[in-house]
Amino acid sequence: MQKKGLVKLTKSGLYCERGDFFIDPWLPVKKAVLTHAHADHTYRGNQDYLVPEEGKRLSRIRLGDEAVISTRKYGETTDINGVKVSFHPAGHVLGSAQVRVEYKGEIWVISGDYKLMPDATCAPFEYVKCHHFITEATFGLPIYRWQPTEFIFEEINNWWRRNREKEKVSVIFAYSLGKSQRVMNGIDRTIGKIFTHGAVERLTQAYRESGVDLPETKYVGAVENKKEYAGSLIVAPPSAHGSTWLKRFGSHSTGFASGWMIVRGARRQKAVDRGFVLSDHADWTELQTAIRGAEAETVYVTHGFIPELVRWLNENGINAVPLKTNYSEEQEELSADFKK
Ligand SMILES: [Zn+2]
Ligand SMILES: [Zn+2]
Repeated sequence: MQKKGLVKLTKSGLYCERGDFFIDPWLPVKKAVLTHAHADHTYRGNQDYLVPEEGKRLSRIRLGDEAVISTRKYGETTDINGVKVSFHPAGHVLGSAQVRVEYKGEIWVISGDYKLMPDATCAPFEYVKCHHFITEATFGLPIYRWQPTEFIFEEINNWWRRNREKEKVSVIFAYSLGKSQRVMNGIDRTIGKIFTHGAVERLTQAYRESGVDLPETKYVGAVENKKEYAGSLIVAPPSAHGSTWLKRFGSHSTGFASGWMIVRGARRQKAVDRGFVLSDHADWTELQTAIRGAEAETVYVTHGFIPELVRWLNENGINAVPLKTNYSEEQEELSADFKK
């Protein structure tokens, strides 16, 4: 990464020296500008935070009541020590943003995590032109190509319906922030009742309060009679997999909604009955489309298949360099017990 650029990498994270603020820092700093509320981008312990208004409820849950949080709407420009800073939708989860940083005509975009696929639970990705574009590469290999979301939801609906006919409960594992709500929003809510794990319920409530259309759900902890579960769908974080928590549902089928499920071996390793290829990250094609759309002079690749994407970009006439950060896609897509 350029030594003299407006944004540089430090031991605490991406830093804009001119404006004296960090973007998604992983060590405590004075001023943190955050792209979204996933754990590897939103750390506690910073003095003050600037987050997108659309994701403020999620940030509050992650950062706690004590945190000093200011918000800005998408597209609204803020001056931080002479540097212009604005948030632009990243299409990743509710309130996720790309951070645009501008000083004396030099423009940087830190895209955080993003996807281009339509998702009714958040604002669609916006193309922002810049000189320097920092991109993720979670699924930066040609084998990762997503099918249209409607197909995936048809698979999930059919699985739930069939389980219900066989008097089985359907347990779907989905990341608690974003994926769970996307599943609930897209599923056929006429099939049956939906119950949630505690980790999912709280965030789901924050989504509802933010105006996202979600079906009625009931927290598992509030269920008194196990008969209520008959034929229902349970939405739980991946960490619930293999735990005794599942015993209460009796006979059940398990499914996992994750981009990693595209690899057959991943399904077997994770010991789930069904894998549903639903990701909140850009696939191979989307990464290229987003990167080309930025029209940047330099692309910095972080977070995932870095050397593979860097090589492909350079071979295809786009100047790209690797950038080593502390963001980890595993935390988002998989929990520890799902990791190999
Ligand atoms: Zn994320
Ligand atoms: Zn991430």
